[in-house]
Amino acid sequence: MSANPFLTFNNSLTNGNQNKKSPHIAIIGGGFTGLTAAYQLTRQGYKVTILEKDEEVGGLAGSFQVNGEKLEKFYHHWFTNDKYVMELVKELDVEDQVIYRPTRTGMYYANNFFKLSSPLDLLTFKPLHWFNRIRLGIFILWVRRIKNWQKLESLTAKEWLLKVCGKQVYQVVWEPLLRGKFGGFADQISAVWFWNKVKLRGGSRGKNGEEMLAYYRGGFAALADRLASEISFYGGQIKTNTSVKQLMVEGDRVMGVKTSQEIINVDAVIATPALPIIADLVDPYINSEYVDQLRQVKYLANVCLVLELNRSLSKTYWLNVNDSSFPFVGVIEHTNFESKETYGGRHIIYLSKYLPETEELYKMSREEALNYSIPYLKIMFPEFSHDWVVDYHFWKARYSQPIVCKHYSQLIPSRKTPLTGLYISTMSQIYPEDRGTNYAIREGRSIGDLVASQIQFVKPDK
Ligand SMILES: Cc1cc2nc3c(=O)[nH]c(=O)nc-3n(C[C@H](O)[C@H](O)[C@H](O)COP(=O)(O)OP(=O)(O)OC[C@H]3O[C@@H](n4cnc5c(N)ncnc54)[C@H](O)[C@@H]3O)c2cc1C
Repeated sequence: MSANPFLTFNNSLTNGNQNKKSPHIAIIGGGFTGLTAAYQLTRQGYKVTILEKDEEVGGLAGSFQVNGEKLEKFYHHWFTNDKYVMELVKELDVEDQVIYRPTRTGMYYANNFFKLSSPLDLLTFKPLHWFNRIRLGIFILWVRRIKNWQKLESLTAKEWLLKVCGKQVYQVVWEPLLRGKFGGFADQISAVWFWNKVKLRGGSRGKNGEEMLAYYRGGFAALADRLASEISFYGGQIKTNTSVKQLMVEGDRVMGVKTSQEIINVDAVIATPALPIIADLVDPYINSEYVDQLRQVKYLANVCLVLELNRSLSKTYWLNVNDSSFPFVGVIEHTNFESKETYGGRHIIYLSKYLPETEELYKMSREEALNYSIPYLKIMFPEFSHDWVVDYHFWKARYSQPIVCKHYSQLIPSRKTPLTGLYISTMSQIYPEDRGTNYAIREGRSIGDLVASQIQFVKPDK
């Protein structure tokens, strides 16, 4: 059965699968976790209402328009081994919308560009002594075979990498990436986080060892819309521009949610936003020990300055910046992955930085961020000129990356909470993998099934 192709938000389309006795589940957040949980529950006959504070679904994988085409606010791609996404697109019968393409990866180090897409590139990577190039290559192959990640829990990435890769590889390759991504938290990052990143990216390869990545025709928004359409078809509601302000609790049971517009009575609530947001919602009702535990997971923010240029900066899709004099950790030329024709011939560049929300760059306006970045771009790409910029956008996300420290498994809260009927499923509970839409889909299905197993149907009255 195919879903209604026309999106009908705030409109209940019943397919006969539901009746008045269907338990009603509210889902806070319309990112990929919330959407997948709703998809999983509505198909089983549950009445579901997604409450999303933004004007569109998609969450961190949400989009904006470039020349009439949707583009992610924050760069997005999948790895070829992102199996939960691939299973979902197969189930939705939209496998043909997934595009696989080889991509070019590079590194900017000591004012130079290095191609790092294939094993051969690594062998010719001059900043490392030849012995260390081989050592690094062996490390990347070996990492993919590690299964017992629990052994890495008690090590920081720094401790582990210095031991297995040596000082030069650490200082030239890994340390700048850790600093660029985690700033002042770099030395605290767990070896588990690092192991998993290298494993995933290293495993996303074509037949000849070249890196391959995947994308969706129409962007991640098109898949989010497709899920939303399916949810509507099965009778679910999606209320956008709707922020949940408060939980309605009686005793230790959640009875409903209060949004910016109304009170909605429900049988259960699934919360998908970042843990500090959930901590604020549960604070009035649960002991402070539990709330403090939710607040123990720290998050970095992210900013992406998205440039629409009238020409290309380079041939590289993904440029890791291993040079601390450049204020962004990545220069991602999206149109070296998806064709510029998709965006009316414009070249799309993301300048990305993870940072504490207290940093100056996070507080800048769009214009300030552009003016701040241009001198650095001119150093990196001497021919670059301000008049190449046709348009630009500056996106910020306060909770974009949990800080995965040593023994992180001990910080992760359970999906069930001390409040009966309240469940949490957030990107900070994804472990040992790191957050990503692939795992949001896995977790969304899993929390949907958990809630379905806990909240049973009541037989309709005769
Ligand atoms: C810079 C960057 C690059 C990334 N690149 C990739 C990539 O290449 N590939 C990939 O797969 N993943 C990538 N990710 C990760 C991916 O976007 C996330 O892991 C995933 O989207 C998380 O989905 P989620 O539903 O768990 O959380 P979110 O997307 O954060 O969804 C939570 C939702 O809750 C809503 N919300 C918050 N508070 C309230 C409230 N009080 N009431 C109602 N709604 C509320 C938010 O608006 C949000 O929509 C990237 C993330 C970032 C930041």
